[in-house]
Amino acid sequence: MKLFKTYIGEKENMRLFLSKYEEQLTYEAPTSKPKGRVPKNERFCRFCQKKSPDVTFKNEPHIIPELLGKNFGVSDFECDLCNEYYGKFETDFAYYLGLLRSFYFVKGKGNVPTFKSPNESLIARMETLQSGTKGMGITDFTSEGFDINIETGRTTITYIKHSYTPIKVFKCLLKIALSILPFSDFRFYGEILHFMSNDENHEYYVQFAKVWSYETNVRRIKPACYIFRRRNNVDDVPKHVFMLYFENMIYEFFIPRYALDEALYITREFSSYYCPPILLDEPGEINTYGSSIIDFTTTELLQKEKGSIAYQLDPGHFSTAQMIDPLTKEKSPFIPSAIRKITLFQIDENFDKEAFENGEGF
Ligand SMILES: [Zn+2]
Repeated sequence: MKLFKTYIGEKENMRLFLSKYEEQLTYEAPTSKPKGRVPKNERFCRFCQKKSPDVTFKNEPHIIPELLGKNFGVSDFECDLCNEYYGKFETDFAYYLGLLRSFYFVKGKGNVPTFKSPNESLIARMETLQSGTKGMGITDFTSEGFDINIETGRTTITYIKHSYTPIKVFKCLLKIALSILPFSDFRFYGEILHFMSNDENHEYYVQFAKVWSYETNVRRIKPACYIFRRRNNVDDVPKHVFMLYFENMIYEFFIPRYALDEALYITREFSSYYCPPILLDEPGEINTYGSSIIDFTTTELLQKEKGSIAYQLDPGHFSTAQMIDPLTKEKSPFIPSAIRKITLFQIDENFDKEAFENGEGF
């Protein structure tokens, strides 16, 4: 049995999960243009079941949306009409993610996105210091957006998200899952495809839109997906479990309505097992992660939802912290509640530490 690294406190859950499921595939978007693609005039769209020339294949449909990072992972089995239809859900997903992509410097098609909360009470955008060092400046205009706890070292940034429809976020995630499934498995998901491919949100299907999520203390440099499949077909568990790893977040759910599991769905007597976070390195003694179930079953537009992102610094940093007036360069004691702007830097070869410590302005 292949072993997966996880947090020490999750080893038993991992053992339990792996007693029911085995890894079927891992998907990471390729870093260069794929070769050996199916010619456009021979393509078949798995989502609408139409082939060229009844539908066109001019677009480059991404398997993992580029809003999660620029990538070369495109498919040969999604027509332009389906691509445009499913693409609409990506806006909801981006709005659901809120500040996250800016916070982690995720470059999509273009640069790292600017984030503005709907009433512009919080704005995050890339800025360049005089030395050329780039940073993500997050400005809070409400005086309530930042909670800096100097005792624990934890800072929480709170903001309002743009309106989005939760069920569309789920459809966006489910679309990724259905895209990475091999066709031999995909063909058994005709029923859920019906729910995916139109705007009717029958409550029977909507009920499955619950996603198990982890917020971990480790980041994935690029997004990755996993499909795990049931080991034993007599077990009363759903056939496939899908996971998306993005930055420090994990989204996990079972793909509903596998045709051969009809009996499970009629009796609704099935058990779900969740895979604890799969880590690439041993976590040591650290056990910092949070888990929750995200309910994406709402079919109405969700407005003014609060979002938050927290990060941890060594509390020791705050004992020596000072405030520097950017104009006069005058230094004064650090008052957390006075902070209206936080700038994040990626500590790489372009980072000018000296300029930063001298309070260089923008
Ligand atoms: Zn299609």
